[in-house]
Amino acid sequence: MQKKELLYEGKAKKVYNTEDPGVYIVSYKDDATAFNGLKKGTIVGKGVVNNQMSNFMFRLLEKQGIPTHFVEELSERETAVKRVTIVPLEVIVRNKAAGSLSKRLGLEEGTAMRCPVLEFSYKNDDLGDPMVNDYHILAMGLATREELDQIAAMSLKINQLMVEFFKSVKVDLIDFKLEFGKTLEGDIILADEISPDTCRFWDADTGEKLDKDRFRRDMGGVEEAYAEMMKRLGL
Ligand code: UDP
Repeated sequence: MQKKELLYEGKAKKVYNTEDPGVYIVSYKDDATAFNGLKKGTIVGKGVVNNQMSNFMFRLLEKQGIPTHFVEELSERETAVKRVTIVPLEVIVRNKAAGSLSKRLGLEEGTAMRCPVLEFSYKNDDLGDPMVNDYHILAMGLATREELDQIAAMSLKINQLMVEFFKSVKVDLIDFKLEFGKTLEGDIILADEISPDTCRFWDADTGEKLDKDRFRRDMGGVEEAYAEMMKRLGL
């Protein structure tokens, strides 16, 4: 599988088309941004970690019946994925309070939620990805009722599977962000990535942060944290 033209370059990835109209190639970069692009930097080796960890997670989820865009890992940083139209929503699933939820609701970081919390943001950089609810999503036509119900059900199922898996490698899954895509056939599948850029991972015993919060909060040990997550996954 060969890259043809660069279609899109985002903050952390490049997307190319291929000879196959149904397949794109994603290439993961080491560039890191936070706070809607205000903070910029490099996390050496991040592209490799995020590519390999995402593919590991997508394979695991596929085995448990979750359809994803994963096709084939091509190299350390590149993966062939199904062509989809991204649903313009960021779906956030939370098991414990952290980050913006802690601030907004005055909950100490690490406070357990009685049940998983689902949040949606409208993917729009100019607006800073504002939070929206079902009514906004339907009124703006960002998704249909049926699509939204499917996205919510899939997200909660993915959460169950991920919590269970990460527990087995002594990692507490605090929260994470998902994106979904629509195939040419109209099916909703999991897209984008699952990585320390998009999840909060805390060591189950020590509570040590093993994710992008180390970069966001200038804590140091960023590369080491990403490498530790790879080790936990046996990669
Ligand atoms: N997240 C993400 N991309 C975003 C916003 C959030 O991947 O543009 C992830 C983030 O890594 C965390 C979860 O979604 O695992 C919840 O993030 P939160 O709303 O607390 O925002 P943050 O504190 O990261 O700004």
